[in-house]
Amino acid sequence: METISKINEIRNIINEWKRQGLTIGFVPTMGCLHQGHLSLIEQAKNENDKVIVSIFVNPLQFRPNEDFSRYPRSLDKDLEGCRNFGADLVFTPSLNDLLPEKNLVYVDVDLLGNNLCGSSREGHFRGVCTIVAKLFNILTPDKSYFGEKDAQQLAIITRMAEDLNFNTKIVPCAIVRESDGLAMSSRNVYLTLEERQAATIISKSLSSAKSLLQKGKRDSLNIKSFIIDSIKTEPLANIDYVEIVDHSTLQFVDIIEKPILIAVAVYFGKTRLIDNLTYKEV
Ligand code: AMP
Repeated sequence: METISKINEIRNIINEWKRQGLTIGFVPTMGCLHQGHLSLIEQAKNENDKVIVSIFVNPLQFRPNEDFSRYPRSLDKDLEGCRNFGADLVFTPSLNDLLPEKNLVYVDVDLLGNNLCGSSREGHFRGVCTIVAKLFNILTPDKSYFGEKDAQQLAIITRMAEDLNFNTKIVPCAIVRESDGLAMSSRNVYLTLEERQAATIISKSLSSAKSLLQKGKRDSLNIKSFIIDSIKTEPLANIDYVEIVDHSTLQFVDIIEKPILIAVAVYFGKTRLIDNLTYKEV
């Protein structure tokens, strides 16, 4: 496995792979890798000749008051994980190389980026899409792997690839959870012991909502209130949003008649965690 930070160097390697007719799977990350990221690498390895993982903490997707400067970084451990899971190349561009100050053109995200995380993190998806578009152009992967954990991001990137004609197939990957149900996240390391225990209320509430859906409940306001009440039983939880939206358009729904996404964001102390449930059996 090689670690490359220069754009020209990685392009040369990729050109050679393409010349040999090899397929490339790509896993973009911000590092501090956990089992969730590694499952994406594993899936990419199973479906491609070569796997590239990028590690880049993208300043464009953080708002000024967010955790960019303290976002956890653990490059040595990340490289070990990438190697163990069969990555061929790790791309670690410097901030200056990927985002030179002359960068004046960005990817604008329309309707899909306005609600859910887009409303509490203004500009977030513009930042995500701009960097992912740059990475797609540099690495030209055949397939790109994104976790369903970040469901809105997955929906937006899927649309970006279609709308901007990127020649890469976006592959959704299932959410990986801790044994008590908490969705794995690089931000879980911020949680105190008490917050970590309290955070299980998110997946418990989503599971209970799933039972309601399975029993035939279809009124989204009722289900939303149920989830909010359930999360509020945990005193350390502070809800940012709970929303029920159409799975592909991400627009709010009243009566659940098509596949939906229930998306939630909850603060525990200063740590904001997201999770979601997709329900398609309607
Ligand atoms: P990040 O480093 O947080 O930007 O995440 C990089 C990729 O890993 C994204 O596509 C995430 O959706 C995915 N990911 C993060 N956590 C999980 C998880 N628990 N299960 C599956 N995929 C995940």
